[in-house]
Amino acid sequence: MNFVKLKLSNENDTIALGKTLASIVKELKCARLIAFLNGDLGAGKTTMTRGFVHGFGFEGNVKSPTYTLVEPYEAEEFAVYHFDLYRLADPEELEFLGIRDYFSKTSYCMIEWPEKAQGFLPKEDLVINMLYDGEARKVEVESRSDTGKKIVELLKESHGKQD
Ligand code: ADP
Ligand code: MG
Repeated sequence: MNFVKLKLSNENDTIALGKTLASIVKELKCARLIAFLNGDLGAGKTTMTRGFVHGFGFEGNVKSPTYTLVEPYEAEEFAVYHFDLYRLADPEELEFLGIRDYFSKTSYCMIEWPEKAQGFLPKEDLVINMLYDGEARKVEVESRSDTGKKIVELLKESHGKQD
């Protein structure tokens, strides 16, 4: 496991982190990515995902799919799936969503509130912890797989080390 801590001074920094993650995933030609996003309401999970989605060339609005649980952004060769499981009452609901399909092809999944679906999600590559820091935010990106490890290394190179 390795990790990087970054300070995000404003919303643009949070969006930029999402975009950087997208370019790293493209650079590494990752076949799949599962990222768990942790943090209180308003910590910036959806904002970061917006940058990630835009980084893959999808334009327009990115809102949290609170009621639908998942918002797909699909291209020919790959898809980005944005999950928000805050309102998931029972993890078995995920079976009705056809959750296996989301993880079977080349997909990059950003998952808010993953703990609501404990035991029903594939093993994560990254855990992204977003924290309040006064008016700003802090983020810790932690690797949980070989792919995650490569991503964290590249993130350190592009953002430098910070506390
Ligand atoms: P979450 O999905 O974690 O509930 P959102 O991304 O929906 O959070 O909301 C985060 C809020 O905080 C938005 O109003 C956004 O403009 C703001 N925000 C995002 N990143 C930062 C930052 N680094 N510093 C200050 N405000 C931020
Ligand atoms: Mg959200």
